[in-house]
Amino acid sequence: MDSIPLVDLGRQHRSIAGELRSAYESVLGRGDFILGGALDRFEAAFAEYQGADYGVGVSSGTDALYLALAAHGVGEGDEVLVPAHTFIATALAVVRTGARPIPVDIRPGGFLMDVNAAEAAITPRTAAILPVHLYGEMTPVDPIERLARRFGLLVVEDACQAHGASFQGHRAGSWSDVACFSFYPGKNLGGLGDGGMVLCRSPEVAEKIRTLRNLGQARKNVHDVQGWNSRLDTLQAAFLHVKLGHLDEWNDLRRRHAAEYDRLLVDLPLQRPSPAPEGESVYHLYVVRVQRRDAVLVALQGRGVGAGVHYPTAIPLHPCFAAWGFRQGQFPEAERAVSEVLSLPLFAEIQESEIRHVATVLGESLSAG
Ligand SMILES: *Cc1c(COP(=O)(O)O)cnc(C)c1O
Repeated sequence: MDSIPLVDLGRQHRSIAGELRSAYESVLGRGDFILGGALDRFEAAFAEYQGADYGVGVSSGTDALYLALAAHGVGEGDEVLVPAHTFIATALAVVRTGARPIPVDIRPGGFLMDVNAAEAAITPRTAAILPVHLYGEMTPVDPIERLARRFGLLVVEDACQAHGASFQGHRAGSWSDVACFSFYPGKNLGGLGDGGMVLCRSPEVAEKIRTLRNLGQARKNVHDVQGWNSRLDTLQAAFLHVKLGHLDEWNDLRRRHAAEYDRLLVDLPLQRPSPAPEGESVYHLYVVRVQRRDAVLVALQGRGVGAGVHYPTAIPLHPCFAAWGFRQGQFPEAERAVSEVLSLPLFAEIQESEIRHVATVLGESLSAG
């Protein structure tokens, strides 16, 4: 069998090429490339899809997180709780505000922020909790909400991997103060370039983020706050709106493929993903945990299986954060996870024969050596 990539965007784009072309023609015809009509329409459509009141398109997921925190006044002197196991952008967005990210270990056996560890990390400086819905699985809503309410903290959801995911029927953006999304091409909903969105329920916060993303300009040439240029292109919004129409179907396929992997891998010496039954994961990634991960990864890649690792380093142990002074062993669950996680090829258009091939090669790689 030919090699199987981790993600194949070409297959997705070929299936909707005609729709993307008409979206392009329409924006080209109108010429409203910056803050145009297709952006307004996509902001409203995506907010409604997630169950939020307002959507503000921005230039990336990282900027969405930064702007969401900044719009709530989080900055110098504040602390923000982030999971010790996540994509580095989560922590960098906090750093950008001037606040300090405080890593919190993940719950044993899972990949999401441990709420008890989060509570233990709260200090008088804590301003916000930033749970990450990693791999497409929502962090359980209730305990986070209760904790935030008890300590008067802001909740910012990093939903960059969780478009369409839900927990007890709640999607990201429908229950918290604010939720942030990335439209990086490889996400479940991805543009043909960078993009992001902030969803929120406060009209004031939405207005503030609209102003901040547009150089602080509330009205023409009026700049009361120091903003930044972080707008989502009209053209990307038009492409994303086309893709939003397919998102449920694509997420359903991802879930079906994940169930197929579950079935095929059941007897192998590895830990399969086990999202909470009250949630509906959208499997941004299908991540197993294996011993001798690096050797297994090399074996898979050597046989054309595009497996990956998300992510190989715990947040507090990145060299760029060395000044925080964390040492190995302080975040045992996250550190174990980063040494064991292995992402298998998964995307809506992957074929069942490809999934079977990946499972076979994985089984052989695990029993070799
Ligand atoms: C992708 C991602 C981001 C950053 O999004 P960009 O659009 O690449 O800036 C942040 N957090 C998580 C969990 C992500 O997966």
